[in-house]
Amino acid sequence: MLEVRDLQSAYGRILALKGVSLRVETGEITAIVGGNGAGKTTLLRCLSGVQPVSAGTVKFHGEDITGWTPHRRVAAGIAQSPEGRQVFGPLSVEDNLRLGAFRRGRATTDENLESVFEMFPILREKRALPSAGLSGGQQQMLAIGRALMSEPRLLLLDEPSMGLAPVLVDQILDAVVALKRAGVTVLLVEQNASAALAIADRGYVIETGRIAHGGTGQALLHDPAVREAYLGL
Ligand code: ATP
Repeated sequence: MLEVRDLQSAYGRILALKGVSLRVETGEITAIVGGNGAGKTTLLRCLSGVQPVSAGTVKFHGEDITGWTPHRRVAAGIAQSPEGRQVFGPLSVEDNLRLGAFRRGRATTDENLESVFEMFPILREKRALPSAGLSGGQQQMLAIGRALMSEPRLLLLDEPSMGLAPVLVDQILDAVVALKRAGVTVLLVEQNASAALAIADRGYVIETGRIAHGGTGQALLHDPAVREAYLGL
């Protein structure tokens, strides 16, 4: 579905991505793991089109989308749930969700709203309340739900477990598996490497702007070098 080749991206003179290549296969969960400042967020921002690319290509279903605007990518089926959640606090839960479907007609939006509520029942309970009052885990569900409202083919998730208690981390990652079952292809960026690799079909370890390891989620989980450096085992 997605093929990234030799991608480079810089902030001024700092090269944050130094030639990243990876593939995301249709129907799979692909995890990108790595430490602080490794380039995970920069990579996702390049894929959603909000971060300039200085070299390399991104292909989506075989089409070169490297120069596409973020808007055009969303229209093609690429949606991002950004790091730090960024829900609109004063707006109600339902209005936040409806914003995610701004391109859709009312009927489709109501249907999508229903499927998000099925996936995250707590959001139905709180639909009329300001989203600022949600807990961290609930806001994460809202951010994922909002991305789903655009009916993505590929969902980019940036650190969905960040700042959450362990029980909520499990709940969010269970939701990612449910998304996959519902037919959404997921590219998941996580610092929580063992939890992410455990649910991933495929994974990549990124280290100072380069892919250091790649393989199935299970192979990486059992790779001694990965275990020592990233899983604290
Ligand atoms: P984290 O998990 O902490 O978000 P990350 O793996 O997502 O880390 P990035 O945020 O992509 O890493 O950062 C990659 C590199 O780019 C780091 O060296 C970082 O300092 C640098 N960088 C990131 N954002 C900027 C910016 N706005 N200006 C300058 N340098 C930046």
